[in-house]
Amino acid sequence: MGKKVDPAKAKRQGIIPTFIKENIAQAFENEPSPLHLPYIDEMRDQIRREQLILPAWHKEQTPSPITGKGNPKTHDAENGYNAPGKLIWNETGLVEKANKDKVVKQAHDWTGFGQEVGKEGKSFKQFLLEFYGLNSFDGNGADMVTTVHFDERWNNAAWNEHQILLGDGDQQMFKTFMLMDVIGHEWGHAVTQYGPNLTYANQSGALNEHLSDVRGILFLMYMMGWDASTCHWLIGKGIWTEHVNGKSLRDMMHPGTAYDDLRLGGKDPQPATFTNYEPSSYDNGGVHIWSGPVNRVFALFANDIGGLTWKKEVGLGQIWHNASTRLGSESGFVDFYNATIAACKSLNPKLVTNLDKAWKQCDIEYMIKNKK
Ligand SMILES: [Zn+2]
Repeated sequence: MGKKVDPAKAKRQGIIPTFIKENIAQAFENEPSPLHLPYIDEMRDQIRREQLILPAWHKEQTPSPITGKGNPKTHDAENGYNAPGKLIWNETGLVEKANKDKVVKQAHDWTGFGQEVGKEGKSFKQFLLEFYGLNSFDGNGADMVTTVHFDERWNNAAWNEHQILLGDGDQQMFKTFMLMDVIGHEWGHAVTQYGPNLTYANQSGALNEHLSDVRGILFLMYMMGWDASTCHWLIGKGIWTEHVNGKSLRDMMHPGTAYDDLRLGGKDPQPATFTNYEPSSYDNGGVHIWSGPVNRVFALFANDIGGLTWKKEVGLGQIWHNASTRLGSESGFVDFYNATIAACKSLNPKLVTNLDKAWKQCDIEYMIKNKK
C-alpha cells in the first residue's frame, strides 16, 4: 500500500488480473510436487505473453473499419496466437457454412447478432443502441470484432484496444469466459476507451474497471430480464471450475466475498468502502481492488431504487453513462462522485438523495476529507 503507480509502467490486463495468476503459480509452488511444475510454468508463461499481447502486439493490427453500422464479426483463432483469425460469422450470418461451433456462435449472438440467429434480437450492440444511443462502442459505427478460442488453454478475456479476445480456460481452475457479464465487461472497456479514456492505473484505472463491471452487469440483467432484487450482482459467476472455492470473480454488492481459496492467494481482496484508501502496491495501483467500493455504490443505489436498473424509465445506467462523459482521463473517485450527482440532477433529480446516501455508505467522505 502507498505510492501511486506510474501510468507509463501500468500494464493492460484481461478480466483475470495478473495478480490472480501470480498467486496461483505461487500457491502451486508452495505444494511441492513435480506434477505441479508444468502448471506453474504455464501460468507464468500466460502472464508473460499477456504482457506482450495486450499492450503492444495489437499495434500490428489495424483498427476495426468504421462502416457506420457496428457490424459484428466473429472469428476463430483455432487455439492459435493470431487475431482476428478465421472469420466464421458476420452481420449477414454464417460465413463458414459448415461451422457448427457453439462457442463462436454464442460470442457472435451476444455481441451483435441477437439471440435468435437470423433475427435482430438482444445483444450488446442492441443494448448500446437502445439505452445509450450508440451505434457501436465508438459511437461511430466501428465494426465489433471478436476472436474466440484464442491461444491454448488461455485463462482470460480481454479488449486489446481494437477487438475482443476470448480464451477457452484450462479446465483446471478456469472453466469458461463465455459469460454475458464477461462479454459486456470487455465491450465496456471499448466504450470507455472512446469516452473518458480513463488511464489504466490508480483511481482512474479503478473507475475504468468499475465502468466495465457496471456495463457487464447491466448487460446481463437486460439479457436475463432481471431487476435489481433478482440480480446476484456477481461478475464472473461460472468462471471457476469445481476445484475453486469461489462463487465468482467479483461481488459488486459485497466486495471481498467472491472467493476464498489458498490457491488464489486467499480471500478476494476487494474492500467494500473507501476507508483508509491507499493505492495498492500491485495491480496497477489496485485497478481491480479499488473498483470494489465504487461497484458497491452502484449496487446499493440500484437496490434502493429497485426495478429494471438498465431501463430508461429507471435510468441508472443512463446516469452512470452520462457521469462517465463528464470525466477526464485522470479523474478519481471524488470526481466521479461529483459527476454522478451532477448527472443525476440533470436526468432525475428525485434520486439525488438516494445516490448521495449510497456514496456515503461506502465512505466517500474519507476521500473528500483526506483529499485523496
Ligand atoms: Zn477489465
